Amino acid sequence: MPSEFSLIDKYFNLYKTKAYKGIGDDAALLKKNNNYLWAISTDMLNEKTHFLPNTNPFNLGWKALAVNISDIYAMGGIPKFALLAIALPKLREDWIKEFSKGLFSCAKKYKVELIGGDTSKGPLSISICLLGEVLKNSTLLRSKAKREDDIWVTGELGLAALGLAKLKNKIQLPESLSRKAISRLEKPMLHSSIVQKMAKLSHSAIDISDGLIADLTHILEASKVGACISLQDIPMDPWMKKNKLFDMALSGGDDYQLIFTAPRRNRNKINMISKLPSVKLAKIGVIKKEKHLNIIDDKGSQYKIKKKGYDHFETK
Ligand code: ADP
Ligand code: MG
Repeated sequence: MPSEFSLIDKYFNLYKTKAYKGIGDDAALLKKNNNYLWAISTDMLNEKTHFLPNTNPFNLGWKALAVNISDIYAMGGIPKFALLAIALPKLREDWIKEFSKGLFSCAKKYKVELIGGDTSKGPLSISICLLGEVLKNSTLLRSKAKREDDIWVTGELGLAALGLAKLKNKIQLPESLSRKAISRLEKPMLHSSIVQKMAKLSHSAIDISDGLIADLTHILEASKVGACISLQDIPMDPWMKKNKLFDMALSGGDDYQLIFTAPRRNRNKINMISKLPSVKLAKIGVIKKEKHLNIIDDKGSQYKIKKKGYDHFETK
């Protein structure tokens, strides 16, 4: 079975586009005026594929919008207008009320307006299309990483995968970590306060939906470069680090953190941003000319991961 990405390439990425940027980045780009572009993106959440049955509807409403905002942020953009397409198996008004509360609390926090959509009956599925604005000069494309760029990442990685493992009873966790990890999985928080600052200082970005390695690899392939990252610099919850859950941090999906690559000359400015209250931003490595991704452990040896990231059509 071909991978999700070769399927897209083979059957959907077929024609040249009139858009400023078409298939291949976190969002497509359209010309708005001389200084601004529109960024437009869509992401779908399906029951059993993207969330477990009986997921809290408030959190689901939040997450359906948050994962789309994350893609607009990954372009350096500001999210603006959303369309919601939802299929519901049966009418349960208490469920929809909570879903709506979650959706609109996310919309309020990140200043998004719902301006349309579609509602129908079917297996639970939520798809949002989000339009945002990007300053042309600070658009972040996956293809613009340059060699010797620093690689920066927001937040702590692997928590959503840890939360999923906990919900599936595959791991035992301290109570407070269990709550934190499940909350990161079900209600991702985004780094709205730093996106515009980082967009001005960075060459490229992507959001982490399929795992750090999988998504960093998208940048490396699009930019025709490689990278060297240091395992001990990967931001992780201390319990996860102590228990050496490195593979979860490297390849766990659903974190919705951001990867930026930025020229070394901006390192001091970015370090200042990383010190702002409630900002988590860590330098994890460097872009290299050689088209290979090296992960170096604390002893300076190559670290090998078992699984690179999430692919919907991967053969087991
Ligand atoms: P992301 O993880 O940022 O949402 P994806 O990995 O889902 O991005 O998609 C990679 C690229 O392929 C994006 O530019 C997306 O718009 C495009 N894409 C995905 N599915 C389709 C499709 N069915 N038709 C056209 N383009 C698609
Ligand atoms: Mg993305």
